[in-house]
Amino acid sequence: MVYYAGPVAKLIEEFAKLPGIGPKTAQRLAFHILNSPREAGSSLAEAIVEAREKITYCTVCSNLTDRDPCQICSDVKRNNGVICVVEEARDVVAMEKTREFKGKYHVLHGAISPLDGVGPESLKIKELLSRIQGEQVEEVILATNPNIEGEATAMYLARLLKPLGLKVTRIAHGLPVGGDLEYADEVTLSKALEGRREI
Ligand SMILES: [Zn+2]
Repeated sequence: MVYYAGPVAKLIEEFAKLPGIGPKTAQRLAFHILNSPREAGSSLAEAIVEAREKITYCTVCSNLTDRDPCQICSDVKRNNGVICVVEEARDVVAMEKTREFKGKYHVLHGAISPLDGVGPESLKIKELLSRIQGEQVEEVILATNPNIEGEATAMYLARLLKPLGLKVTRIAHGLPVGGDLEYADEVTLSKALEGRREI
């Protein structure tokens, strides 16, 4: 039984490939597009094509960029001596929003996860090492996620980087601001205790 015309089925299928989009949502998005003015569909399609064509990886930090080196790497006001290593390009955005960090970044494009077949060679680690050898780097901040994969990646990088005579630091993990001690899980609470500092 054919439920949809071919192009509609194709559109639903494409939406369903996106992360977090199940078949129901894919169907809803497809019908939303089909019920919207023709231009809305075209501008969505154009935005996708334009982003895919113009955006590449920065050859220095591997962040997504429309020029190479990216805006952050070419900013002379930023400190070359400190590199903050993150898993994804969206983590750079999160860090930038804090307005606290004035160094440079390095995007790994993932984290070590043997179960998913992601080893160190699939990440931008070689690029990080050659970058460190070429630049005057004093500190590398490991800002991978506080989960099993992120911790494994941080440990792996620390083992590689420490022998190079660099200061290697890990971001602190702890309680969310506005949170309540009694609702925190044991791992978060013990990490918060471990990362305590004098005030
Ligand atoms: Zn860059």
